[in-house]
Amino acid sequence: MSLPFFMSAYLALLVGVRGTRKEWKRKMVHTFTALGQYLAADVNSGAVHVLDKLSYDLLSAAEGPLGEKLPEELAKKLSQYDRSELEEAWQELRELQEQGLLFTDDDYVDVEKAMELPRQAVVKALCLHVSHDCNLRCRYCFASTGDFGTGCRMTMDVETAKRAIDWVIAKSGKRRNIEVDFFGGEPLMAMDTVKATVEYARSLEEKYDKQFRFTITTNGVLLNDENIEYINREMSNVVLSLDGRQEVNDHMRPTVNGKGSYEVIVPKFQKLVSGRGTKDYYVRGTFTRENLDFSEDVMHMASLGFRHVSVEPASGPLDDPFAIKEEDLPRVEEEYEKLAKELMGRKDINFFHFNVDLTQGPCVIKRLRGCGAGCEYVAITPDGDIYPCHQFVGKEEYRMGNVFRDGFDMKISGEFAKQNIYTRPACQKCWARFYCSGGCSASNLLVNGDITKSNEVACEMERKRLECAIALNAIAAGMGEAKDTECNNTDCNHCENCEM
Ligand code: SF4
Ligand code: SF4
Repeated sequence: MSLPFFMSAYLALLVGVRGTRKEWKRKMVHTFTALGQYLAADVNSGAVHVLDKLSYDLLSAAEGPLGEKLPEELAKKLSQYDRSELEEAWQELRELQEQGLLFTDDDYVDVEKAMELPRQAVVKALCLHVSHDCNLRCRYCFASTGDFGTGCRMTMDVETAKRAIDWVIAKSGKRRNIEVDFFGGEPLMAMDTVKATVEYARSLEEKYDKQFRFTITTNGVLLNDENIEYINREMSNVVLSLDGRQEVNDHMRPTVNGKGSYEVIVPKFQKLVSGRGTKDYYVRGTFTRENLDFSEDVMHMASLGFRHVSVEPASGPLDDPFAIKEEDLPRVEEEYEKLAKELMGRKDINFFHFNVDLTQGPCVIKRLRGCGAGCEYVAITPDGDIYPCHQFVGKEEYRMGNVFRDGFDMKISGEFAKQNIYTRPACQKCWARFYCSGGCSASNLLVNGDITKSNEVACEMERKRLECAIALNAIAAGMGEAKDTECNNTDCNHCENCEM
């Protein structure tokens, strides 16, 4: 038997006092197959191993930590294999264990200390809702087709946008880089506000030693030569909304007059992307129960010349007609695997969800707690109200303040700061926790009525995407394309100055 391939290991989060043994201290190895590979991920060390079938079966059946001798009952259970081969595989697995690459503890994480970090974090990103109005009527729209359920369609005036910039400068402490995402509804309906905001923010950069990075998320309908040129000059990133094939997109994303939007937006998106050079962009779609064959949509976007693409599952409560349901999961998982097969070895397309960072990056907060909603990241509405993120806008109980009035509800912020892989019960037991960072509070609320209760349907999809992503990385590494993924990020604790 052999362990034909060993891929990577990342080590150490925070060095500190060892806590009492809790659920997350469990030694955990996740074995799985994807893309014809037999794989094992050691959760706490981050090591990923590509195995042969015998080692895979052995490791899947074993309970860690592995003892000196191959247990009799395991040998019996796997009697289809030659005994000496099983013994040899057992010893090779034990060697990995001794190297700290299988059945490791995460004793090196000082959880108490790690949990303090989000509470100390500064605000570093704004989702600026410059428009609560939209020129499309997407069927699955979480923002009630633009007005966020308020019944009031409006755009943000320049005064409010400036106050939002002042507010984030004040809340960002010593941190230099600040992100602003122009969002809606449809932000191009408030292009004057967008331009005035960029100008105002830039005018304050030197004085306050800040650097702003702007993103805009658009449905594309109002793109023209002038604003394409402006966006490509000023925006560090652009998110372009398109659902894929024309029939899928036009069914889900009609205009106010009920016509399809595909023919209007695709040429504009292509023009924008062709002028973008090396700057970031994503063409981003949503898939629903009505197009569970969404890999076709991803491939269609690639065929239009878009390199950076993403499709997100529609999420919602049980009575939502478009949200992915538990019974859809086998089909969705099959589709992710199909997509991963299609993308194997292709360098002309970058599917967002298959970009897994096996080194997990240097930021301990990000690894533990994910998106930062409510503490590092907030959404601001056209009338200046502050919410934990765009998905909470309009939910009065989550309103955290207003840029025209002092005060920022630290109780709500504290609740969000507490959300991480060690406090969410499902995450504590989940093999994917260090990749996923704990999921989405908004989706938990939508489905379970509680930001702490993981949305299991979303989790299943996340885990399948991660399996595909890890398998793709393993295959690329086998082709000699892997980077050196070993890293040792021990004590990044400088959030205010963080450039990530
Ligand atoms: S997949 Fe779900 S349970 Fe697992 S870490 Fe992510 S949110 Fe938590
Ligand atoms: S809570 Fe969910 S929707 Fe809001 S920013 Fe985080 S991941 Fe995104």
